[in-house]
Amino acid sequence: MEEFNTLPLTHLTGSICRVMDVAPPKQSEGEIDRLVEYVFEKTNGKPVDRALMYNPDAIGQWTCKKYSEKFASVRKNAPLELPLLTVFPPKTPVCFGSMYTGASPSVHGIQSYTKPVIKIDSIFDAMIRAGKKPCIVAVKNSSMSKIFNERDMDYYIEDYDDTAVAKALELIEQDKYDLICVYNQEFDDVMHRSHPNSKRSQRAINHYATYFDMLARQIEKHWTSHNTLLGYAPDHGTHREWYLLGNHGKNIPDDMNIFHYYGVIPSKDLEQ
Ligand SMILES: [Zn+2]
Repeated sequence: MEEFNTLPLTHLTGSICRVMDVAPPKQSEGEIDRLVEYVFEKTNGKPVDRALMYNPDAIGQWTCKKYSEKFASVRKNAPLELPLLTVFPPKTPVCFGSMYTGASPSVHGIQSYTKPVIKIDSIFDAMIRAGKKPCIVAVKNSSMSKIFNERDMDYYIEDYDDTAVAKALELIEQDKYDLICVYNQEFDDVMHRSHPNSKRSQRAINHYATYFDMLARQIEKHWTSHNTLLGYAPDHGTHREWYLLGNHGKNIPDDMNIFHYYGVIPSKDLEQ
């Protein structure tokens, strides 16, 4: 039986804020030393001034291990592999709520599959207070298209993953946002209709990797005067039910253990 990971997902927001030199949201629980140390090592101790978070829905740790070869380009762009424990119940709005507030579900208020606007302090509020410009690019009706609404920031709601990524590529080229969160959902969609190892699910893993690579290349091309944190950051894992369909929501390592991947794309100025 696989063990549960110990590094909590609730410590991610505090870590991103630390490396961007931004005061964290009020209820944010902590920091991940390995991530903070990794980033400062890459930047010679300077903060990163940009972050691009790619949020591929439902990629669990076991999927990263089983299909390791499909993650080669993810690891190349973002070499720091962090084993994290997501929050319970491992449902999309619950997990993204904690990922971007740094708070437990009982604190941010989403404890089941519902998508209300989160009222407590979030990474987006923290960025705005610090004078930074965040935005969210998400597929319509998704959790990420709803739960962080009502902030003084921009939201780009797209029909599906491909158009969300196209929008994100455009926004990177415009060079005006400091934090861009890009949400994609194909793997979650197809694994619920089939199972996490189906051919369609495997194609979705490939699509996520391709999109992540496109985003990294675009940052290298257009954010040349910025130090950028690049993250591949799923919300929860999956398992296969006795009735054979894919699912998630149980307190089991398959659903709760996730790998995140982080890298730094340094500014060209820093390299000189
Ligand atoms: Zn999800």
